[in-house]
Amino acid sequence: MDQHPFRMWLTEAETGGVTVIGWEVRDHTAIEAMTVRLKEAGIDVTVGTEEECQDRQVARMVHFTGPLGIRTELFCGRRLAPSQFVSPLGVDFVTGEQGLGHVVMRTPHVQEAVDFYCDVLGFRLSDTADYPWFFLGDAAHMTPPFLAQGMCQGIRDASGLVWKLAAHLRGGAGDHLLDTYQQEREPHVVQVTAAAKEFGRIICERDELAAARRDAELLAELAASARGTIRQSLIPGLSGGFVAPERFPVRGHILPQPQVTDSAGRSALLDEFTGTTFRLVLTDEADDSAVAAALSKHRAEGGFPVQLVHLHQGATPARQGAYREKTNVLSAWLSEHSCEAVLARPDHYTFGGVHDAADLDGLLTAAWQRWTRVAAVG
Ligand SMILES: Cc1cc2nc3c(=O)[nH]c(=O)nc-3n(C[C@H](O)[C@H](O)[C@H](O)COP(=O)(O)OP(=O)(O)OC[C@H]3O[C@@H](n4cnc5c(N)ncnc54)[C@H](O)[C@@H]3O)c2cc1C
Repeated sequence: MDQHPFRMWLTEAETGGVTVIGWEVRDHTAIEAMTVRLKEAGIDVTVGTEEECQDRQVARMVHFTGPLGIRTELFCGRRLAPSQFVSPLGVDFVTGEQGLGHVVMRTPHVQEAVDFYCDVLGFRLSDTADYPWFFLGDAAHMTPPFLAQGMCQGIRDASGLVWKLAAHLRGGAGDHLLDTYQQEREPHVVQVTAAAKEFGRIICERDELAAARRDAELLAELAASARGTIRQSLIPGLSGGFVAPERFPVRGHILPQPQVTDSAGRSALLDEFTGTTFRLVLTDEADDSAVAAALSKHRAEGGFPVQLVHLHQGATPARQGAYREKTNVLSAWLSEHSCEAVLARPDHYTFGGVHDAADLDGLLTAAWQRWTRVAAVG
């Protein structure tokens, strides 16, 4: 493939993802033989136009709709590029005899797809996997650089996946918990990527007049309000998945990370004390007996372990889980949302909160039901 004029063709489409896949066949005879086989299998085959062949720099092409609804093209006689591709970024990427690599397609009708690719197109099956696959990081999505979110997305994917895998493998969580990985990550990544693209559109304005207008508008906005927007405010929370029902506040937010001092006088970021666990963050206002009752019911039902974080404004009492906040960042956030308690997940997203500790039982019950069978809860 190294001599192909191009390997990927990026074009504007209505939906994200791959819209066309092209496969090279040996020659004109092979195209004709494949056309006969496809027609015998009841598939409509269309001959590519001269213009389409010109665009692809191939001598001949036919196309049809594959079993996954993706336009599939078969071509022969590709023209070679006059010289081998040299990346302006200095990336060394040689495929040699190894060809393209792989194409990943998702389908609920696996056998139908395998039958088509093997029996009709003549592919061979190299291996199969009967366990679920999870993609994360750049393998699952690419993000334009304008919000510097590529790696951040990948780390959020990873931290969202690993606790769910552990909960499933060791904590008895149902399959539905694993399904929430895609439910949570896909809309989140789509929104962040759209925001990054919008930033790119603003930054990369190539029309000088439009750029000057943009600069003037931005400078005027800055002069009117010197308060900027911090980047975290542009990153959306979770809109679904393993989060509390809608009646609970702060579902799917990122838990602010404060600097704290524990009762022994040691100072650190909160998660350096707690690790990546389920944390129940409690303010001074949360009624102790309501908290104790909710937790003892959760434990009696065999619920997942919950670590307590008692946030204090003044002196820190000598008890496990008591912390004094140095910067007030978490307390201010709790007070902004009028929450006496919040349940945070191991990946630092909030499951949800309660305005009154008396509702903690409902919050923990919802979390435990979603853990054992997510779909059971509305
Ligand atoms: C110039 C630049 C600037 C960036 N700036 C930022 C930023 O400011 N903030 C931010 O959050 N992100 C940024 N990113 C994005 C960030 O670097 C990526 O999102 C992140 O590195 C992706 O991590 P990953 O582990 O998912 O994939 P990768 O880092 O691509 O890791 C994949 C690994 O798999 C290996 N591999 C591939 N195929 C095979 C195979 N068949 N067998 C074995 N190994 C294989 C590769 O060699 C590689 O080591 C930037 C990226 C670039 C290029």
